[in-house]
Amino acid sequence: MFSKILIANRGEIALRIIRACRELSIQTAVVYSTADKDAAYLKLADQAICIGDAPPAESYLNIPRIISAAEIADVQAIHPGYGFLAENDHFAEICRSCRIEFIGPPHKAMEMVGDKVECKKLAKKAKVPTVPGSDGAVDDEKVALRIAQEIEYPVIIKAAAGGGGRGMRVAHNDVSLRAGLRQAQAEAENAFKDSTVYIEKYVEFGRHVEVQVLADSQGNALHLWERDCSMQRRHQKLVEESPSPVLRPEVRRELCESAVRLIRAAGYTNAGTVEFLVDKKQNFYLLEVNARIQVEHPVTEQVTGIDLIKEQIRIASGLPLSFKQKDVPQIGHAIECRINAEDPARNFAPSPGTINEWRPPGGPGVRLDSHAYAGYRIPPNYDSMIGKLIVHRPTRAEAIACMKRALGEFHVWPIKTTIPLHLQIMDNHEFQKGDVDTGFVERVLLNR
Ligand code: ADP
Repeated sequence: MFSKILIANRGEIALRIIRACRELSIQTAVVYSTADKDAAYLKLADQAICIGDAPPAESYLNIPRIISAAEIADVQAIHPGYGFLAENDHFAEICRSCRIEFIGPPHKAMEMVGDKVECKKLAKKAKVPTVPGSDGAVDDEKVALRIAQEIEYPVIIKAAAGGGGRGMRVAHNDVSLRAGLRQAQAEAENAFKDSTVYIEKYVEFGRHVEVQVLADSQGNALHLWERDCSMQRRHQKLVEESPSPVLRPEVRRELCESAVRLIRAAGYTNAGTVEFLVDKKQNFYLLEVNARIQVEHPVTEQVTGIDLIKEQIRIASGLPLSFKQKDVPQIGHAIECRINAEDPARNFAPSPGTINEWRPPGGPGVRLDSHAYAGYRIPPNYDSMIGKLIVHRPTRAEAIACMKRALGEFHVWPIKTTIPLHLQIMDNHEFQKGDVDTGFVERVLLNR
């Protein structure tokens, strides 16, 4: 087992990894930018190294500086968290060539699943259903129009290098397809420096259901059941839960088994998430594989009792999984609400600044993963998430009641947060029945 790890990330996930390491008696070094110099979690690490200025390219995305920090701190491994360099196969390769273990999958497997077009090809081989669409990249308008005619509108244009819902456009006819193709290419070039896009059938009124997987380097691979992340805004998740409130048992089993088949075919190890869209009839189609720990991993931890960060570290150090598929339970119901420093009343405008008052909720069934505190200044340079509120109760109805209670207790001032939107979601009758899809929040709650 490692004796010291570097955490190449910030905020709540850096704190989450520090906590796992402490329980495993592993020392931690964290890197930080000047914008995060006062962050309280830095004090919980054994060592904190400033690697540069606020812009991510100067700090959290700067590979040479992170490798230098790892060498100074004399660590055996790097945990990349999520975002930043977490899915950068080049970074994983550099770490390993510097004899520092990257806590994640082999870079070849990352590269394969990271390209959504390649990943779909692999899925076909592994007999995992994919959304009908172009077999590969589409750069020509004529080809795009032909594919749309074949699979029929509506279609969605997506970036091959995509992430965070960027570079995506839905088209309902030839006119919007032509415009959408150009817009998606420009957005993809801007966000990922890669303008490659592809086209899929747009699954209307679908749900987003994903499967957590773990695989070790001895060839053992298993799943930790599903998370339903259908409550989204602009293709980004707001609320996640496990189990999915709607999946029929045989669909759940097939979905989870498909996910394991796919990661086996990719030669994947460590933690990963296989994302699917599930249509009204509960047919499911692969969306993509996320080769990292996810923001929403706590809901899986709550229902299975398995600490995913600790498992990631154990797997990266070469240990085999210590449990079998039959030992992975799915007990009770867990829900997570992402608390963002954004103002729902002003079209989710970012609300950076200092949190003067911070009164977090507590009590039975409540878990809060957050790096924020009274006096914390939210830097404007990064993601707006200031915490994740997670509840775990025996039934979904009890989990919703617990979440409402916890959101009601949560007091943050004067920063605006997404707490009011989450209260609205928990109070919504359709959500309570589980009768939602990925467009529900915008269509029904935000009246778009
Ligand atoms: P990203 O990597 O940008 O997060 P994903 O492929 O994971 O992109 O998709 C994010 C979300 O976009 C999905 O959860 C879903 O809401 C929507 N989406 C993507 N592809 C489709 C599709 N073919 N049909 C309907 N919705 C889709």
